[in-house]
Amino acid sequence: MMTFNLQGKTALVTGGASGIGFEVASLMARSGALVAINYLPGDPRGEQALATLKAEGLEAIAAPGDLSDPAQAETMVKEAVKALGHLDLLVNNAGTPGVTKPIPIQDLESVSEALWQTLLNVNLMSVFRCSKAAAASLKASQGAIVNTASIAGFGSIASTLAYSASKAGVINLTKNLAHALAPEVRVNAVAPGSVESSWAIEWSEERRRSTVAATPLQRWCTPDDVAELIVYLGFAGRMITGQTVIIDGGISI
Ligand code: NAD
Repeated sequence: MMTFNLQGKTALVTGGASGIGFEVASLMARSGALVAINYLPGDPRGEQALATLKAEGLEAIAAPGDLSDPAQAETMVKEAVKALGHLDLLVNNAGTPGVTKPIPIQDLESVSEALWQTLLNVNLMSVFRCSKAAAASLKASQGAIVNTASIAGFGSIASTLAYSASKAGVINLTKNLAHALAPEVRVNAVAPGSVESSWAIEWSEERRRSTVAATPLQRWCTPDDVAELIVYLGFAGRMITGQTVIIDGGISI
């Protein structure tokens, strides 16, 4: 594991109670940062995440809010920044695959208007909403934003039509935000391949096996692999902005 010294730093992680979001919140807290964890109101994983950190002697701030709702997203960011005192890093990580068992449901024939709206609203619009609400604080602290995109956003992956388009939007928004917020704030994104999180655990044994077989580095990408890259882009990488860094064990090459 990489180690970072984040004493005195603060961060807000959306979708921070599980998977990649929890790993990045946890890595930053262990490195000395004060972290606010956003989660869907009523999701028991929010309290669990805070309790897990507390058991390790780490403090974190609860920041519940459904980011598909513009008003909740704005209020959540404003209250989190107030509780943190200032904001150095916003990690726009909340997302949904929009798929349920049995997958796939995003073929041209079957993808619905409602699913398109959900995916664009949660995966893309939430990034815009939270970034806008955090912009003044991030400028004041010369901070950074890191968005969680996906390799799906660079091309097409079978049966993820609307999800891929939402993540392509995140990659483009990353560049536009980088322009809009420069020179004070750097804005980057990570684009994971298949990550062993709550989604992939639901995959069939055969799909899991073939994914590893097709990956040059011959293993799954883990949430903490992605967390290290997010923290690097957020707090190091001082001449990097507007970029989306692929982290997929080489599967996309
Ligand atoms: P995850 O399901 O554990 O994390 C997503 C989190 O976002 C969950 O905690 C969920 O409750 C939260 N969320 C969903 N809708 C929300 C809303 N409206 N408001 C607030 N929070 C909301 O899965 P993960 O793999 O850790 O996903 C994190 C990010 O990584 C997502 O943006 C996802 O698109 C991206 N990603 C995942 C993979 C993968 O293979 N798992 C690959 C590429 C990119």
